[in-house]
Amino acid sequence: MIKIEHLVKNYGANCAVDDVSFEIAKGEIVGFLGPNGAGKSTTMNILTGYLSSTAGRVTVDGINVLDDPLAVKRRIGYLPEQPPLYPDMTVEEYLIFVYNLKGCTLNRTKHLEEICDVVKIKDVYKRVIRNLSKGYRQRVGIAQALVGNPPVIVFDEPTVGLDPKQIIEIRNLIRTLGKDHTVILSTHILQEVQAVCDRIIIINKGKIVADELTENINRVADGSRRYRIKICGPQREVLNMLNDRSDISYVEALPARDGDAYIYMVESAPNIDMRKSLFYTLSQKGWPLVGMEALGMSLEDIFISIVDRTGDDARVRKATKTQRSKRSAVDLEKDLAASIIDATAEAQKSIAPYDGED
Ligand code: ADP
Ligand code: MG
Repeated sequence: MIKIEHLVKNYGANCAVDDVSFEIAKGEIVGFLGPNGAGKSTTMNILTGYLSSTAGRVTVDGINVLDDPLAVKRRIGYLPEQPPLYPDMTVEEYLIFVYNLKGCTLNRTKHLEEICDVVKIKDVYKRVIRNLSKGYRQRVGIAQALVGNPPVIVFDEPTVGLDPKQIIEIRNLIRTLGKDHTVILSTHILQEVQAVCDRIIIINKGKIVADELTENINRVADGSRRYRIKICGPQREVLNMLNDRSDISYVEALPARDGDAYIYMVESAPNIDMRKSLFYTLSQKGWPLVGMEALGMSLEDIFISIVDRTGDDARVRKATKTQRSKRSAVDLEKDLAASIIDATAEAQKSIAPYDGED
């Protein structure tokens, strides 16, 4: 359905997309995952015909974007990072405007009604877009993408700026749409693609670093054996004991305490489950274990594991390892919360009419 071959986009001396190739089959829900500045929006804008490429080839349904951008646009519903909304219009006026703009020939009333049903915006249909909450505006943005019933839908960071409840609703909506559409979901949030996508393409600094089924990425994520543990016992001695163990590869004492317990972040050596053995040791020492909680993996950790595993780029591996050693365990725990806060900050930007270019 979608084929991207050796795509390159330079902004002056800055290479935003560096020889990216991937294919997406009909009906797939694919996550395009990468940190801010990785080149996601640039790739999405080229794929949807809104931005020209420096080199490479993009085809949708066998049609080259350069040969017939209109035919490609007809096949793709696109929700860009900044949804192309006109705040002074009502939802109804705006969707009729989009309907006309796309030269849609489906029965207008019926078609728009169906879309409003799917994205659940019937109750705000007559309202001015400016006055809608960010969650509703995002739904209107999705409605706009669905006009004309395109077989492919591309979402660029669709949950940025939404509160946790809205995030869940939009993810559910995307999953529903995935039942009868080919979907690309671009995001910097690992949990988002894990929750929604069958397959995950990871991009970093303009290059694809992984293209895997979600279950494989999950396996890598689950392979993380990082725990926050609470132990009642003399901190220095406990720390020495943890450091001396061969089944623990990393230990950090956290500044927090819980009653008379000190809190540590430990990471077990690969493919080793040290939990039971640690329990027995602590029990022998008379240091009660009062808490053990598995910590999730951040996008950065996934990068490290994947690059480590594939051994593709030793330079990247070394750089990311150094970075990791500087990260504190507290940071790790806050990853998801931080990405939501990030997102909220971005949403504060005013929503301007979309002019077709970044
Ligand atoms: P992402 O969507 O993954 O956050 P982008 O595709 O927006 O990343 O950006 C990739 C890189 O290209 C970044 O380094 C960004 O600063 C740069 N970039 C994006 N748009 C432009 C532009 N219009 N002019 C110059 N540089 C740009
Ligand atoms: Mg982006």
